[in-house]
Amino acid sequence: MAAKRDYDDLNDNTPGGIEALAEQHLVQPWPVSGSIGAEARGFIESGEGIYVTDAHGKKLIDGPAGMWCVNVGHRNREIAQVMFDQAMALSYNSPWYTTNQPSAVLSKRLADHAPEGVGHVFFTTGGSSAVETGLRFMQFYNNVKGRPEKKLIVSREGAYHGSTYFAGSLNGRPRDQDWMDSARDQVLKLTCPNPFRRPAGMSEEGFTDFLVEEFRALIEKVGAEKIGAFIGEPIMASGGVIVPPTGYWPRMRALCAENEILFIMDEVVTAFGRLGHVFSAEDVFGVRPDMITFAKGVTSGYFPLGGVMIASRLFEELRQSNHNDAMFAHGLTYSSHPIGCAVALKNLDLLEEGLLEHTRTISSHFQSRLKALEDLPLVGEVRGVGLMAGIECVADPISNNPLALDLEVGKRIDKHCQEMGLLVRPLINMCVMSPPLTINAEQIDEMADILRRSIVITQDELVREGLWKG
Ligand code: PLP
Repeated sequence: MAAKRDYDDLNDNTPGGIEALAEQHLVQPWPVSGSIGAEARGFIESGEGIYVTDAHGKKLIDGPAGMWCVNVGHRNREIAQVMFDQAMALSYNSPWYTTNQPSAVLSKRLADHAPEGVGHVFFTTGGSSAVETGLRFMQFYNNVKGRPEKKLIVSREGAYHGSTYFAGSLNGRPRDQDWMDSARDQVLKLTCPNPFRRPAGMSEEGFTDFLVEEFRALIEKVGAEKIGAFIGEPIMASGGVIVPPTGYWPRMRALCAENEILFIMDEVVTAFGRLGHVFSAEDVFGVRPDMITFAKGVTSGYFPLGGVMIASRLFEELRQSNHNDAMFAHGLTYSSHPIGCAVALKNLDLLEEGLLEHTRTISSHFQSRLKALEDLPLVGEVRGVGLMAGIECVADPISNNPLALDLEVGKRIDKHCQEMGLLVRPLINMCVMSPPLTINAEQIDEMADILRRSIVITQDELVREGLWKG
């Protein structure tokens, strides 16, 4: 039997050693079958503020803030202290039978930030479990209300809602479903609301009309009595930072209300400061959802926590139904985790005490510095809100043809950026940027300069190799 000392030499932190261990034993997210279970990914050793340091001691700006989550930045002492203190006070209690103080206080503070009437929260372990909880709640709600056929869920092409079975079934990005099973029979998909890819000759207003009419026609065709929920990210994140056209959200929300379709906003990325507000649904997009899912920035990635805010009226309706004993048989061992909730409270303090304000102020500089990249021929569009932006590369900006070598482009830009000290998150032909909210103007300039140089080098390479005409 192996003893602890047999592993002592594995703790030496050498990059090659760590990567080799992972390659031999660690199954990493989103692998391809050609390298599954045998993949070496770059080793990140430490983080500080907006930077991470890689295996070779190279300091890089954390362009995607981990996975859009390290909102208060790396190595925040106050958060670390809260984790320690909470672990020493109460590291765990069963949410089945008991309540802890941090989760109760956090529920009140989140309800105060959420749109009026969205006054309850169910805590989960992350974003997928938050989406899963929202969907299962919709099913339960309709069962108790005596309309068990009202269960279909409307999602959109380009969406990403998670990796558990039901949440994953909602995903609409290219390749997400190619080799995976899903609850296809329970999900309907609408067109991705990407104004940049709207049909040629259609105005942006016309595009909004088209998208809303498509939803209306779907409801008419399928029947409102069969559709339980609509779910959408206010801004599609990993689908390429898709900002829907003006007027889209209020009209989609109104259609849901008219048809008693629960309107779920998936704010796993957009909440907790990314767009300068704790929740963006009402503060940025002017709508009051029935449910808001969140995760990531709620703890700035320091502890796995997520949740779903739920309109209080839905509970009222359930309490008044004829089924007092109908059980919402749903709960997670780590629901309302005291350490996660304590971290979230401190994280919220930091947002309220200046980071939200800072984000709202600095984001115009961030957006304008990145927008300026549109003068490069390889860049089709730069778009975003707050500290969230997407740079979409194209071969031919005039006809908007996607680049034949889309996959290459993102990878190449990423490689050059890393050499120059910036981590980006390449998504096929797109780079998405969502740095820690603590970023300052100088650091934004550095980030934009590196991106520009990397895109220019990539353009030159593609032309030189005869892959692109320029
Ligand atoms: N919803 C959205 C909008 C996301 O971007 C993600 C993850 O990126 C999820 C849900 C899933 O969250 P998690 O990975 O924490 O399960």
